[in-house]
Amino acid sequence: MIQMSNRNIVVLDNHNDKDKVIYLMNKSFRVNNNYTLYQAMKYCEEFHKDLWIVMVEPYEINSRNLDYFYQYSEDLYEKLHQFTDQVKIIKRDYDYNKLLEDTHAVFIDKSYLKFDLSILNQIKKIAIKKEVLIIEVESNVFVPITVASDKEEYAARTIRRKINDKLSSYKDEVLNEYLSSKAEKEAIDCLKDFIDHKLSRYDEHNDPSKNLTSGLSPFLKYGFISPVTIYNMMETINDNNKEDFLEELIVRRELAYNFVYYNQSYDEFEGMTDQWAYQTMKNHMDDQRDYIYSMDDYIHFRTHDPYFNACMIEMVYLGKMHSYMRMYWAKKIIEWSKTYEEAYKITLDLNNRYFYDGLTPNGYTGVAWCYGKHDRAWFERDIFGKLRYMNDNGLKRKFNIDTYVEDMNNIKGGSE
Ligand SMILES: Cc1cc2nc3c(=O)[nH]c(=O)nc-3n(C[C@H](O)[C@H](O)[C@H](O)COP(=O)(O)OP(=O)(O)OC[C@H]3O[C@@H](n4cnc5c(N)ncnc54)[C@H](O)[C@@H]3O)c2cc1C
Repeated sequence: MIQMSNRNIVVLDNHNDKDKVIYLMNKSFRVNNNYTLYQAMKYCEEFHKDLWIVMVEPYEINSRNLDYFYQYSEDLYEKLHQFTDQVKIIKRDYDYNKLLEDTHAVFIDKSYLKFDLSILNQIKKIAIKKEVLIIEVESNVFVPITVASDKEEYAARTIRRKINDKLSSYKDEVLNEYLSSKAEKEAIDCLKDFIDHKLSRYDEHNDPSKNLTSGLSPFLKYGFISPVTIYNMMETINDNNKEDFLEELIVRRELAYNFVYYNQSYDEFEGMTDQWAYQTMKNHMDDQRDYIYSMDDYIHFRTHDPYFNACMIEMVYLGKMHSYMRMYWAKKIIEWSKTYEEAYKITLDLNNRYFYDGLTPNGYTGVAWCYGKHDRAWFERDIFGKLRYMNDNGLKRKFNIDTYVEDMNNIKGGSE
């Protein structure tokens, strides 16, 4: 029987006497601290099986994101030959029936989102017939989601201790003696740059005119780096801002995973937020909207708001957006849409289409947050009701926001 760890989930407890063990790499595209790869290797050693590593192309709705992935995948493909000669990269619509021929077991990175779970579901159907063992490994979060909490959490404050109390049990490192891939090296360089040049000013990271966040989110999305690696690299650093950064990286990120795991409606207007939020939206659904914009207006920077247009330039041209501006951006779409549901759909579509870090639990949760999820009721006002409101006066008061707008306009101007 397989040695269990809290990161392993037996999906199908089958047994046959075939020799092939596949690691289906679909979320953790890396070597270091890749717990799924490690478990598959250990299994092969113990039971004298042959390891195959099969990388599955990630789901994307934007070819720019796929290009981003593919600029790293060839190098990873080579580095994975350290472990076996049987390495493959496949499209998502590959013939899994063929893949699972003569297969004893499949180890797969645990998925949380519906489009990723569809791969597991296809594999499961075939594995039942072929009596293939399936093990999921939670290799892309710090504390496995069901270990951290057995229910959908209400807010960061309700999950924080549940996660932080368990960190010491999950910081073990595996596979660090092997050659890292190009993507892993770039992720580490990005982290080092953050530690050396930005961490000491992370308390100002909300200011969009200052580039003080880590920029790690695309690396985390594709699992090019593990949150455990980041945590361990920061452990000996003595900086007052460290805890704030780890709060984002671990508590906020894993709250997002908790949300999409326990809430099946994480991607649907109905169900993604809390009852008080639906009630307040219902009370304000007929409020007068002074501006109504379409998706086309947004992606062609045609609103009356220079700050919003600047966000859209950052999104469309660079595939990212400053974290504070993501909140402002999504709140404005609520203000300028005929219905809350339409606003939600447009926001999610833009988020997942344009961001390099889109199509992640963080994205679905960040958008839901703008509709009250994990937030609290605020003072009642038009359109928003009790949902938190944000306006440009806040931006002007708190930040040197015109610098942000100028920087974004230069990006647009520079590429025309
Ligand atoms: C409307 C909206 C949409 C968002 N869409 C996405 C998205 O598609 N993908 C995405 O990864 N994040 C999203 N976020 C969360 C957050 O804005 C980004 O994670 C952050 O801007 C990424 O930049 P960074 O890596 O430089 O962040 P840093 O400040 O350096 O943080 C480090 C890491 O912590 C995690 N993190 C930071 N803030 C949050 C947060 N609020 N919730 C969960 N995890 C967080 C991320 O993994 C991030 O890479 C969204 C937030 C909002 C309000």
